[in-house]
Amino acid sequence: MPISGQQCRALPHTLTLTCCQKFVLFTAMVYSERMPKNRQQRTGVGDFRRLRQAMCDKLRAQGITQESVLQAMRTVPRHLFVQQALQWQAYEDNSLPIGFGQTISRPYTVALMSQLLNIERGMRVLEIGTGSGYQAAVLASMGCYVFSIERLRELYVKTQALLRSLGFESIHLQRGDGTLGFPQAAPYDRIIVTAGGPEIPEPLLSQLDEQGVLLIPVGRRQRRQEIIRVTKLHGNLHEERLGTTTFVNLVGSYGWENPES
Ligand code: SAH
Repeated sequence: MPISGQQCRALPHTLTLTCCQKFVLFTAMVYSERMPKNRQQRTGVGDFRRLRQAMCDKLRAQGITQESVLQAMRTVPRHLFVQQALQWQAYEDNSLPIGFGQTISRPYTVALMSQLLNIERGMRVLEIGTGSGYQAAVLASMGCYVFSIERLRELYVKTQALLRSLGFESIHLQRGDGTLGFPQAAPYDRIIVTAGGPEIPEPLLSQLDEQGVLLIPVGRRQRRQEIIRVTKLHGNLHEERLGTTTFVNLVGSYGWENPES
């Protein structure tokens, strides 16, 4: 069938477009083969920063108002404290598995606990339950010297390596039963227990400095726990109950029995 004048004019145009499309497709294929890592990394870092900002906006809406807490959580790369396959979920308000049967607390819990501690720069803080190291990193970013104790050796070794690689020099990690505290570096301005126990461990109270604050979730095993804040004033202990939360078990001499023994 003869080609009409109109079709004739359209033909070269159609051909040119097809060539262009082929060229664009070819170039995209070559570049996607060559550059995926660099591009993904660059996009990833920016995206994680945006996700962190969005997480902090949400925390503020949930009642976290202390700027030092929000600022620390805007800077600590939470996605590096979770398993690689879960990195994209790191800024959602969920707790996540970190291996060895343990979890990293949800961002709101970390923010709330940090806020309830009334931290000032230069304070000496003892943390029981290092886990992923995220809570310790947030406290260190708020200007604290952090002593953190983890009972599980593998987790202690892994977290030690991560915190060193990220340059957290004001965090001192220790392996052992944190319910006994860490008398070598006592007294502490603040003590935070990030696992739920049946009672307040006595050694922690005696390692708390005058005007010191201790924060611990207390409750029955595998249940929601009550956050208790103890303040030491003129040698007296004042207790406040500040709502409920859920943490993994505090296992040790003043905690729950070791499930493996
Ligand atoms: N703060 C952590 C959350 C940790 S989950 C974070 O930011 O990721 C609680 C941790 O407490 C677990 O790693 C668990 O192994 C540890 N733990 C439980 N009992 C402990 C004890 N008696 N002494 C030290 N660590 C303990």
